[in-house]
Amino acid sequence: MSTSWNHVRYDSPADRVGRITLARPEAANAQNYLMLSELNEAFDVAAKDESVHCIVLAADGKHFSSGHDLSDLDPDMDALNTIGTQCHFDADGAEGYMAREAEMYVGLCWRWRNIPKPTIASVQGKVIAGGLMLVWPMDLIVCSEEATFSDPVVAFGVNGHEYFTHPYEAGARLAKEMLFTGRAITADEALRAGMVNKVVPRDELESATTEMAAHIAKRPMFGLTLAKQSVNNALDAMGMYTALQSAFGLHHVGHSHNRLKHGSLVDPEGISVIRSEA
Ligand code: ZN
Repeated sequence: MSTSWNHVRYDSPADRVGRITLARPEAANAQNYLMLSELNEAFDVAAKDESVHCIVLAADGKHFSSGHDLSDLDPDMDALNTIGTQCHFDADGAEGYMAREAEMYVGLCWRWRNIPKPTIASVQGKVIAGGLMLVWPMDLIVCSEEATFSDPVVAFGVNGHEYFTHPYEAGARLAKEMLFTGRAITADEALRAGMVNKVVPRDELESATTEMAAHIAKRPMFGLTLAKQSVNNALDAMGMYTALQSAFGLHHVGHSHNRLKHGSLVDPEGISVIRSEA
C-alpha cells in the first residue's frame, strides 16, 4: 500500500512493516499543523492495516525535525481532522491557544504513544524541541551517530516543549541539564542515558531500522500489543500521564506570562539567545 500526503509518505519496506516518512526536508521537517494532521492519518493507516505488525517513523533529508513551524501556528482548525474533544480553538485569552496545543501537540503525541503496535523512530541529524515530540512517543529509537537532541525553549520563557516526558525519557538529571542549558546531547549520550536503543552509522540507519522492525514484526500482533501496553501501564503507574498534564498546565502559565509581559507567546529574546549558542 502507498498513500501520499503533502508532508508525509507511507510505504512498506519489509514484510509486516509500515513506514511513515516526514517529507518536508526543505524545511528540516518543521512541523506545521497540516503535517501533524497528515502524520496522524498515516499512523491510522498503519494502525488499522492488519498486515502491519510494526510501524517505523523516518524522515527525509539531513535533519529529522527542527521542531514546530513557528510561522504557522494559527491555521483554520476546521480544515483539519481533529481527533480529540478540544474546541474553542479561536477563543480569546489563553483558552483558544491552549486548546490548539492540547489537540495538536499533547493530544496527538499521546494518541501515537498508545497505538497498540510497536513503533520505531529512525532518526538522523538534529532533533530540536518539537522534534522530540515525534521521537519520544515511539516505543524504540534508532539513530545515526551524528544525531543530536535538544530542547532549548526555556530561552523562550516556557518549561520545555509540550509533550513534557523529559524525566521519563532522559532521566531527571540529564532532563534538567537539557532544559536549563538548552544544550544538544549527542547520540552517544542519549544511548548511555537509555533514551535511544541503538546508534548506527548514517548510511546504515535505514537498513538497521528496517531490520529491527522486520525482526519484531515476526511476532504475533497481540503478544506485541500486550507487551507494549504492559510497559506503558508501568510508566503510567509512575505518573507519566499526570506529570505530562501538570507540565502542560505550567507550559501555558509560561505562554500566558509571555503574553502579559511581551505581548507574544514566547519571549522574543529567546531566538537570539539560542542562535548565539548554536
Ligand atoms: Zn506551547
